[in-house]
Amino acid sequence: MSEAPSPTKSPTKTPKIGFVSLGCPKALTDSERILTQLSAEGYASSKTFQGADLVIVNTCGFIDDAVKESLDTIGEALAENGKVIVTGCLGARTGEDGGNMVRRLHPSVLAVTGPHATQEVMDAVHRHLPRPHDPFTDLVPAGFGVAGVKLTPRHYAYLKISEGCNHRCSFCIIPSMRGDLVSRPVGDVLSEARALFAGGVKELLVISQDTSAYGVDLKYRTGFWDGRPVRTRMLELVQALGEIAAPSGAWVRLHYVYPYPHVDELLPLMCTGSVLPYLDVPFQHSHPEMLKRMRRPASGERNLERLRRWREACPEIVIRSSFIAGFPGETEEEFQHLLDFVREAQIDRAGCFAYSAVAGAAANELPGMLPPQVREERRARFMAVAEAVSIARLQRRVGATMQVLVDSAAGLGRKGGVGRTYADAPEIDGSVQLLPPEKISKTMRAGEFTQARIVGVRGHDLLARPI
Ligand code: SF4
Repeated sequence: MSEAPSPTKSPTKTPKIGFVSLGCPKALTDSERILTQLSAEGYASSKTFQGADLVIVNTCGFIDDAVKESLDTIGEALAENGKVIVTGCLGARTGEDGGNMVRRLHPSVLAVTGPHATQEVMDAVHRHLPRPHDPFTDLVPAGFGVAGVKLTPRHYAYLKISEGCNHRCSFCIIPSMRGDLVSRPVGDVLSEARALFAGGVKELLVISQDTSAYGVDLKYRTGFWDGRPVRTRMLELVQALGEIAAPSGAWVRLHYVYPYPHVDELLPLMCTGSVLPYLDVPFQHSHPEMLKRMRRPASGERNLERLRRWREACPEIVIRSSFIAGFPGETEEEFQHLLDFVREAQIDRAGCFAYSAVAGAAANELPGMLPPQVREERRARFMAVAEAVSIARLQRRVGATMQVLVDSAAGLGRKGGVGRTYADAPEIDGSVQLLPPEKISKTMRAGEFTQARIVGVRGHDLLARPI
């Protein structure tokens, strides 16, 4: 009779978790937090649903296509694995019957949470797949590794500075899913940034729902970092981030900045290069009436004038924005106003959605819903104008020498590679197609900066020769 293996000596199987992360960069940072915690507790990851003991799906619930993709992924994970925990924005959405949408459509999921819910997700994981005992990881204090698991390439990272939003734009259900604005303590944000730079990050992308509002909920109170006081406010945060980035020459890029007057204070930092002269400002429309109907923040601001002043103060500034065409009640005249704005404001990079109703959004009740083909036709017209502006602005770069952050370069870049200048955020803007370097001895690696001479424009991208 063979001896029963001693429990302490038997090799314990490490529980494996499959993870799918859908949605925007804000959802991605939620995924990174959950994965960091899972890894800290000794869970392993699985690349397939079948190879996992349990699957977590971080969902997006913003527009109908994203909802469909999320629901399909949950269905796939249930069919292939059976044990599924759902988190993220879709998890917070209610269906037509007033009940939880995910639970109604997929009643066999093990647990459903909203976004920004690391602890609830971990509680659900512990219930259904007990954490492994590991004498090393059990000694690691909670919250270790301020720069934990990243889902982005090694050289860039998203830094989420707040959660939720105090605005109530009529087309948006994010506040109902993520709640009011909650700013992260400035010390935590700066510690995470320092850890990211120390880990090799060369580009930090600051994200939130409303970056300009950072600290409003805390009444801009003074926090502490590195033994010195720092106010919980966008300007002070960005100043400090610039200082932390400077020794490694890393970039700091700001997203979701609403054009409030205090954003002007950032211009000197952009001129000196401590933060990139790049602002992602989601205007959504230009016509005052439309902005009112959309209930947009900063809708009373004179945006054209503000942009003109920004460009005078910092001629290198690049403006990215997103817009909605065919919003309920939009007249042809109001739409023309938007086209004129894009031309006059010389928006460098623009994205545009044809308006689509989101279940639960106040805009659904607005009069003047336009037929889908009109919304789509306006989106196409908008993009034709926006692309012409964008390409003309790219053309102005030809002949210049620019710093490029290399995203990929096989074989040490001898045959060229792909990178981006300060004017291009990853995933959403164009890129720089790098030709083989001028000097045969020059090499390039992903995550390194190189100087390159811009030799042409190819669609939304630049063509450049590394020098
Ligand atoms: S600012 Fe408006 S669009 Fe953005 S998250 Fe807040 S409510 Fe939504």
